[in-house]
Amino acid sequence: MKVAEPTPAQKLLIEVHKLLFDRKSAAWALSVSTRTIDYLIANGAFETRRIGRKVLITAASLKKYAAANHFGPVAGIEGVSHTSNPPMTDPFSWDKCNAIHEAGHAVMALLLGVPLCRVWLSEDNDGFGGCAHLIRDCETEVLIKFAGAGAELILRGFGGWSILFASSGRGDWREAQFYLRDIGGNHKALVRDTKSKVTQLHKDNWSWVLAVSQKLREKRYLEGCEVAALAPSCTGPKEETA
Ligand SMILES: [Zn+2]
Repeated sequence: MKVAEPTPAQKLLIEVHKLLFDRKSAAWALSVSTRTIDYLIANGAFETRRIGRKVLITAASLKKYAAANHFGPVAGIEGVSHTSNPPMTDPFSWDKCNAIHEAGHAVMALLLGVPLCRVWLSEDNDGFGGCAHLIRDCETEVLIKFAGAGAELILRGFGGWSILFASSGRGDWREAQFYLRDIGGNHKALVRDTKSKVTQLHKDNWSWVLAVSQKLREKRYLEGCEVAALAPSCTGPKEETA
């Protein structure tokens, strides 16, 4: 997963206030969503300062958190390296894998009744994509996080979860840990159950996942309602093709 460049405002903030990060800059620095940052702030993971209505995170606590949770270098403090993606041999199948990955997240959200905002793929075919949905609870969040790699795994037909969680699903795995920790219990059993649940749900709804990934490759951006409209029960078993 590649990280979007910070906006000029974020860059300025990082430059001027090396010691304090706003939510967006912190999200960029750790390569996680701002929702995750909000979640972590609410759970006291960071030391924060309040300036007016803005909540700012201290660089020291951001760095400490990253080190304790095995994040890579903290961008803006330590420099970034994104070398986690598998080698690109065939751009076509690369884009196909990314599309199925994001489609997997999107369909899973809707299957679990979680409002889906949008899903997108980079225009540049560089392996960057995303899926934005509302957060309901830790259990569904873990299923949605696993759903990207889960869909890719079915498409690829070889390899394993651990390979994908170390490459294209690296960010997903990392973020899922926050929620898994919150659920508690036996981590290993929870991970195993989530994997099998995700695989089953994807297999039962595979034509939907495929239809979404196909549309995603064409349009590069789909609203939640467009993804919902591609469900076989709504549009019939045969999807239109471009
Ligand atoms: Zn993902």
